Amino acid sequence: TYKEGASAVPFMTISEQFVREYKGHPVVVRNSSSVYDAIVQIFLKDVGAIYVVNDDNHLVGVISRKDLLRASMGTQDLRDIPVNVIMTRMPNIITIKLEDTLHTAAKRMIEHHIDSLPVVQEINKVSHTYKVVGRITKTTIAKAYMELSKCYTV
Ligand code: ADP
Repeated sequence: TYKEGASAVPFMTISEQFVREYKGHPVVVRNSSSVYDAIVQIFLKDVGAIYVVNDDNHLVGVISRKDLLRASMGTQDLRDIPVNVIMTRMPNIITIKLEDTLHTAAKRMIEHHIDSLPVVQEINKVSHTYKVVGRITKTTIAKAYMELSKCYTV
């Protein structure tokens, strides 16, 4: 419900909010890590996906819970499977930039059926070289929505 007394508060929408202000910490592992290491990290850091970086700290892959479950269905020791065998790799990673809006982020996650986006800074567009500086998830969008609704609801 719109609250009369709250009219001094500017009406803000998701389209006016920037990724820069809402991004969370990315959880990253090296591409030499094992699937077992990735599972440990996903539990310890309580995230749904982790990002894989190379020795130069550039984004090379994404691993989600489903990727890890799929890898666990085989009989091979998970300590012997490197993450780069199972990850979704560049150039197929859907990313978002600091200067993009939360609206763009939400639209991108819905269109691509994914739960999170690595926030990146471009180093070289042609060679798909990006540095990971954060993450945006569907929960980020839900929290922002709730925060913004407080401005004009009872
Ligand atoms: P979950 O596996 O927990 O359902 P997602 O829906 O995010 O999580 O992931 C589904 C698939 O999409 C996985 O194979 C994952 O590697 C891939 N994926 C996740 N995030 C991205 C992304 N930002 N860009 C490209 N692929 C992604």
